[in-house]
Amino acid sequence: MFSMIDAHIHWDGYSPGQRSVILDSLDRHGIKAMIAVGMNLKSSRETLDLSLIDGRVKAAAGFHPEQELPSTEEIEEIFTFLDQHAESLVAVGEVGLPYYKMQDDATLEMKPYEELLERFIVKAKSLDKPVVLHCIYEHASVACDLLERHSVEKAHFHWFKGDEAILERVVSNGYKLSVTPDVMYEDEIQKIVQKAPLDAIMVETDGPWPFDGPFKGQMTHPSMMRRTIECIASIKKLDETETAERIFTETKQFYRLSM
Ligand SMILES: [Zn+2]
Repeated sequence: MFSMIDAHIHWDGYSPGQRSVILDSLDRHGIKAMIAVGMNLKSSRETLDLSLIDGRVKAAAGFHPEQELPSTEEIEEIFTFLDQHAESLVAVGEVGLPYYKMQDDATLEMKPYEELLERFIVKAKSLDKPVVLHCIYEHASVACDLLERHSVEKAHFHWFKGDEAILERVVSNGYKLSVTPDVMYEDEIQKIVQKAPLDAIMVETDGPWPFDGPFKGQMTHPSMMRRTIECIASIKKLDETETAERIFTETKQFYRLSM
């Protein structure tokens, strides 16, 4: 059995019943920890509370970019929350840029989102925490500009999508990316796995986000990462156990998890 860490999950997005089913089965699947990100202030609060109930849930707090910007008041409260709970939080996230929202609404201005992202990046650096990024395709370059401007070393591009040039920039800066179970059936993700060095790759579910292919119709469970890891090992022609161990160790170190 592999030891695994789900590097990105929306734990507060599951129902209480689903959460207890998942928690009861974690040991059986070798899941040692889950990085549970926050969507906004309320979600970050709930995620932190849930992390205090079960130590395998590691909370992060932030503001997901694929939604209307929060009020100035909420923004200030999120930053206060980050300061107040820095000891209990493992990262700042999920934060980033509204890629899909901009696809739907051509008039949406990116600038205010970029300014908020820069504030989160600066905060993550001052708290000495990794930053969890939702920055897709060309937005990953914008994020790299900001990260480089502030000499940030620990950044995680969750569910990374982007061309070779962006991938190279992310990897050469020492940042991490993560892949979801869709690597089983998405060519685009398989190509990223082929090009990225193993040490830059983490695995995640982004649960409760649902998957297709062999996972169609199933509740997203961190145990799905087993197939993800097998797929990564096969693409990279590496031993499965060694692949799992290296991903586990890198993820544990990146998020400074004690377990
Ligand atoms: Zn997410």
